[in-house]
Amino acid sequence: MRGVLISYFPLLIVLVGVVVFFGVRYLYRKFVQEKSEKYARCPHCGRYYEKGNYYCPHCGEVVDGDRSDDGPVS
Ligand SMILES: [Zn+2]
Repeated sequence: MRGVLISYFPLLIVLVGVVVFFGVRYLYRKFVQEKSEKYARCPHCGRYYEKGNYYCPHCGEVVDGDRSDDGPVS
């Protein structure tokens, strides 16, 4: 019993590693996606503002709130 456990131990480590890796990657992507959906980058000062705003709250410049920063979405 103990011998079996020890022989499967490396496999278990690899399995746990893979699960943790994909879990972290999933959470990270979800977080990044949420952020990119909610916020856009101001072309004038380079800081993030909430999408839908007409003016950047940081520098006060007019930003195009309707246009997405990457690709034709709608
Ligand atoms: Zn700005």
